[in-house]
Amino acid sequence: MRTVGAHVSASGGVENAPVNAAAIGARAFALFTKNQRRWQAKPLSASNIERFRAACEQHGYGPDQILPHDSYLINLGHPDPDALARSRDAFIDEMQRCEQLGLNRLNFHPGSHLRQVSESHCLRTIAESVNVALDSTEGVMAVIENTAGQGSNLGHRFEHLAAIIDQVEDKSRVGICLDTCHTFAAGYDLRTREDCEATFAEFDRIVGLKYLQGMHLNGSKSPLGSRVDRHHSLDQGELGTAVFEFLMNHPATVGIPMVLETIDSSRWAEEIRWLCSLERS
Ligand SMILES: [Zn+2]
Ligand SMILES: [Zn+2]
Repeated sequence: MRTVGAHVSASGGVENAPVNAAAIGARAFALFTKNQRRWQAKPLSASNIERFRAACEQHGYGPDQILPHDSYLINLGHPDPDALARSRDAFIDEMQRCEQLGLNRLNFHPGSHLRQVSESHCLRTIAESVNVALDSTEGVMAVIENTAGQGSNLGHRFEHLAAIIDQVEDKSRVGICLDTCHTFAAGYDLRTREDCEATFAEFDRIVGLKYLQGMHLNGSKSPLGSRVDRHHSLDQGELGTAVFEFLMNHPATVGIPMVLETIDSSRWAEEIRWLCSLERS
């Protein structure tokens, strides 16, 4: 059974996320464990942690159905040493929050070279940041999300993801989250079953399907190869729906969190039901 859900609100406390997920019939969920647009956050309290764990248990969410997302401010490939140090500290703090909540993965955007260093230099910095974070934590996997390649963001080519993994020392604690909108906007077609097969074959060849640890399920407002990151509802936009039937039946998506980040949260319950109806085995 595929575990499908949505990136739900944790406003008022992380413990509200599993409750919000259960309310829409989600079998998985994503959350921010702190305000994603701020550097500073209060540490999680013992009560937050206890209530989060209790709600997950009550609603049947194990660590493999939960995909926390890090702050948008973090750039693990920052060319400036002081800014890089700040990002690394914030990322370690996020990993520690995941540890405290009993979670086993943290989804992050790889980073941006800001046109100040080469791609390969930036990818090496990102991998080194992951190494530092893995060294200072236990039990949480760094899950790299592929990007649309907007601006100077890296991670839009499968080769970028492979280059990061290649330079991460502990390969058992690094994984990939593929976002359907980002994949498509980055230039990998997913509009027909054949396109999906070709794109996944390329991913497997360059990165390896064994690294797939999460999926973001989104439609795309922006066209193929536009490198513009604009999510849409599943049945709207440029992507079409063949990809969702493909994913709901692909062996690599068994047992990993599959999370909607579609733009109309009032449709999430319906989108989850529709996705589950596509599953044949
Ligand atoms: Zn993301
Ligand atoms: Zn995403």
